[in-house]
Parts: sequence; C-alpha cells; structure tokens
Amino acid sequence: MPVQALIPDMLPGLSDEILGCMELRQDPLFHKIPKEKIPYYVHESLQAGRLAAAAYKGHGIRAMCREAGLRYEITEASGKFHNVSFRAQIDFSKTPPEIILYASSLKGMQTVCQEILGERSSSGEADLDLLVDIHLAHEFYHWLEYREQSFTNERLEAIEVFKLGPWTKRSSVVQCCEIAAHAFCKELLGLPCLPNLLDYAYLIEEKQLQAEDFMQQITTCKLWI
Ligand SMILES: [Zn+2]
Repeated sequence: MPVQALIPDMLPGLSDEILGCMELRQDPLFHKIPKEKIPYYVHESLQAGRLAAAAYKGHGIRAMCREAGLRYEITEASGKFHNVSFRAQIDFSKTPPEIILYASSLKGMQTVCQEILGERSSSGEADLDLLVDIHLAHEFYHWLEYREQSFTNERLEAIEVFKLGPWTKRSSVVQCCEIAAHAFCKELLGLPCLPNLLDYAYLIEEKQLQAEDFMQQITTCKLWI
C-alpha cells in the first residue's frame, strides 16, 4: 500500500520544526533536555543548516564535492554493520575524507522517494540520482563541520546530565548535527520537506514502524514545538 494512503494528508502538517523535533527525540540524552528547551535546539540547528546552505545557493552538490576535493564512491557492498543498515557514510580517516554511498540500500528507498518527492522525479533512475544527491548533501554538511572544526552540537548550550552536590556533568546534544544536516540538504536541493521524512516513510512501508505510532509521535512533537 502506498505510504501516502497510510498517512493521509501527511506532508502539509510536517513543518521543519516537527521533523526536526522527531530527529531530536532520537538523541540518547533526549529525556534530559528540559521540555521548554526543545524548540531552542530544533530551531537553532535548523538555522545552522539553512545558513550554511545559503553560501552554496545555486550550486550543484556533485560540483560542490568536486570543487572541495571530496571524493565519493557508490558501492554495491552491503551497508550493513552490526545489523544496522547504512545508506551513506563519510570516512574522516581518509585525506580528504571520502563519502561512501551504499547503492543497494539507496535503491530500497526509490519507492518512497517517488511517493514523497514524486513531482521532482520522473523515472527510477532520476529517483536514484536524487537519493544520491540527498545523501551527498547530508554528508557534505558533516564535512563542513569537520573542516571548520565547528560542530553544531558544540555551538549550542550543553544540557545538565548529572548532578552530585556542587559537581555537574554536562553534555552537548549530538542529534543537533543531524537536524542541521537535514536542513542544509533541504535548502540546497529545494526539497519540500526535511529528508528524514523519507526514512520514516521507508520504515512504515517496510512495516518496521506502524503508521499510527508515527502519527502519535508527530502529535507529541506538536505539543513541544
Ligand atoms: Zn548525519
């Protein structure tokens, strides 16, 4: 069943803030973030991604990689490590870092890509090209952070994770980097929504996530944002 039928009227209500909040929820320390600070982390991360993208407006992501000397490789190798499937990774141990895209995992997303971003792509090949661009743009943002040694999470306020007498342990919110990378990608490629929606649509289509659970999570995010 098409994912659109499972989640009716899905796109219009899913603002960047809501999808950004969905990403934030995946932070291992999410439960330590004071609820009133959620909009701060989401908004600031989105802004960081958009601002970085503004400098590249009108540039194609593949040319950007070439000009930056960033190599990327599309491999047929499985992106499965310890039972977790990766679609793209950036290897910072190489100089310059290299982006690796896993073709078989990307191909699995062609259907949802067509359904969610349908009007942009007209063929299976165009879908795959767009999926490659989406993942390149995401990793390009991580590379910008690495190059500047300025990571989105470290630029934002740390949260208190543990307190014992006068001693307080603080930590940054790492998922902020992901929200910013999604916003960078959306802005650069002119997507209608943050690209993490594709991940959810894929999980729903693969029956790894129930549409009702997804809608419930969205409803909760709407209360926080
Ligand atoms: Zn990432």
